[in-house]
Amino acid sequence: MRYDLLLRGGRVIDPRSGLDGVADVALHDGRVAAVGASLDAEGTLERDLAGCIVMPGMIDFHAHVYPAGTSLGVDPDALARRAGTTTWLDVGSAGAGNIAGLRDHVAARAATRVLAYLHVSFAGIFGFSREVMVGESWDLRLLEPAVCARVARENPDLVRGIKVRIGALTSGPHGLLPLHLAIEAAELAGLPVMCHIDRPPPTYAQVLETLRPGDILTHCFRPPPNAPLGGDGRVREACWQARERGVLFDVAHGMGSFSFAVAEAMLAQGFAPDIVSSDVHSLCVDGPAFDNLETMSKFLTLGMDLPSLVAAVSATPALKLGRPDLADLAPGSTGDVTVLELVEGDFTLVDVTGATRRTPRKLRTRAVVLAGRLWHEA
Ligand SMILES: [Zn+2]
Repeated sequence: MRYDLLLRGGRVIDPRSGLDGVADVALHDGRVAAVGASLDAEGTLERDLAGCIVMPGMIDFHAHVYPAGTSLGVDPDALARRAGTTTWLDVGSAGAGNIAGLRDHVAARAATRVLAYLHVSFAGIFGFSREVMVGESWDLRLLEPAVCARVARENPDLVRGIKVRIGALTSGPHGLLPLHLAIEAAELAGLPVMCHIDRPPPTYAQVLETLRPGDILTHCFRPPPNAPLGGDGRVREACWQARERGVLFDVAHGMGSFSFAVAEAMLAQGFAPDIVSSDVHSLCVDGPAFDNLETMSKFLTLGMDLPSLVAAVSATPALKLGRPDLADLAPGSTGDVTVLELVEGDFTLVDVTGATRRTPRKLRTRAVVLAGRLWHEA
């Protein structure tokens, strides 16, 4: 058998099939064609990936990739070469009033895949820079659930959920009201909600208690105030209850939302995140977030095992997006593959509080395969 592309001899980690071992991955006609140890096959193009990690295409479930159209956007294709990302979820850069630009100027032109959560605020995140910071959930005239739901329904291939930002910095005095409006939009559109949390009010527990099964709390391992840990250092009871109800916990590192101390305490008490994402945007792409590969390296350093980490950036987000074709390397799946390598050295990782951890190994992108085509090689 002759395939378009044959990736030979890497450590293939495909959490959905339970595969973690040295194998070959064959791609043909844009899809995964075969996975197995020493495939008896040839590739029009072949790569020997001994020592590398071969995984389903990495999904960054919280990012801002609407450059020029918004002040916080970064270029998805340019960053994907470094980050190893094959699918970006832009969460709330755009609202009903400007999602058309994300579709026409970004998603339609990018080689990497761009999907979105639509902000319940009409203009999306419009006032975001070092000098100007205006919360888009603050002015309730912008939050019109019926309009958000209609535009979401008009763009089903692109819009996979509803975003809202609440907290003292983003919604001011309105407490849980913007979240209730986002849930109203989500009910009308039949979609999940992703809720950002910053400083109280509302409290971490109030937000979790309001979310529905299948909704997502983003910035879940943020430092105090509004950390997932109570004053006693224990995981809040509300976290366990929300997880039991089916609420998902997404990291979304960003410039203010990932603390080593919090993440260490959460992991030590058996509360790993469901989804690992970067919240990469223009103010944190050069640190402390950098990209999702850096966030993965941080969780690896904290002791999260590689198969769980791969699941948190591929299978789990793909299924949440309603895209099982992106979730694994099963034959017939969309041929998006991320190839990583673990490089050895003496690296310093930094969180949003300035705290650091040293590590002797870090993940680096070796290659990105999009729709069965070798799109980038380091
Ligand atoms: Zn964000």
